[in-house]
Amino acid sequence: MEFKNVTVAGSGVLGYQIAFQSAFHGYHVTVYDINDEILEKAKAKFEVLSAAFKTDLNATSGQLDAAKKRLSYQSNLGEAVKDADLLIEAVPENPQIKIGFYHELAKLAPEKTVFASNSSTLLPSQFAQETGRPERFLALHFANEIWKHNTAEIMGHAGTDAAVFDQVVAFAKSIGMVALPLHKEQPGYIVNSLLVPLLSAGLDLLAKGVADVETIDKTWMVATGAPVGPFGILDVVGITTAYNINKMAADVSKDPIKQKVADYLKEEFIDKGKLGVETGVGFYTYPDPSYKKEGFLK
Ligand code: NAD
Repeated sequence: MEFKNVTVAGSGVLGYQIAFQSAFHGYHVTVYDINDEILEKAKAKFEVLSAAFKTDLNATSGQLDAAKKRLSYQSNLGEAVKDADLLIEAVPENPQIKIGFYHELAKLAPEKTVFASNSSTLLPSQFAQETGRPERFLALHFANEIWKHNTAEIMGHAGTDAAVFDQVVAFAKSIGMVALPLHKEQPGYIVNSLLVPLLSAGLDLLAKGVADVETIDKTWMVATGAPVGPFGILDVVGITTAYNINKMAADVSKDPIKQKVADYLKEEFIDKGKLGVETGVGFYTYPDPSYKKEGFLK
């Protein structure tokens, strides 16, 4: 069975992007959030997103108007899922909120609905029983700025039905994603399993005083041909996220270098409002960071 009706729960940073991407590719999408005021804000964000679709994807006004007509809004969960083939959950990254949401959803959703979680750090097996339909539950993980960074990592738990998994892979492709199936559960999926160690290694080299920011980035860029190094990436990810990851690692490992990294990010960046690209300053200054200037790789 192909999906037709999609419900996206949570209209925050990722939820509204997933909803718009799905509507743009022809699905009827219901956007669910906890109240109408938040849903009104989501409607306003769709206008901003439309401008990005025009610039980045050459989307036409006709296509964007059609996408908007396929979107509807609901703050009543029962109404929001009553005819959903697929529900994509993008509620806050907080296990208590997610569990509460799945308990409610399990009571209200029709039997046919497949549930997919966009969680970045929690594993589907942690929620499978709460959904009341473990075989029709899995993770479908998108990246921020989904229309440009179009990865969709699909990860089931041991009890996910293989046919459901394949349906979700097909759905991801149908909304313009590069579908990346994982054969088993992996914290951090593929992208973050690769990226987090690289970024941590860069920060460790800096904290140990081995080399400066530009030399570390230059090394990575010249040696691998990558267009950006770990500190350029950290500015895009955001220093707050980098701090949270390193603080957690420091607390768990008691590694003094990790603690030094966490303190450095807090004192030199967060406390000074230098949060990366979003604030115009991080390790580099934007919009013209030195690593993009001619001669940087010399
Ligand atoms: P967010 O805080 O921006 O948005 C969460 C939304 O969920 C808000 O609109 C909030 O009102 C709503 N919400 C709160 N409780 C709810 C409930 N009980 N039912 C329905 N909606 C509820 O969060 P986000 O950054 O969009 O993250 C959502 C999920 O997507 C998380 O699991 C996160 O790990 C994942 N994710 C985020 C990113 C990112 O870059 N932000 C990237 C990939 C995946």
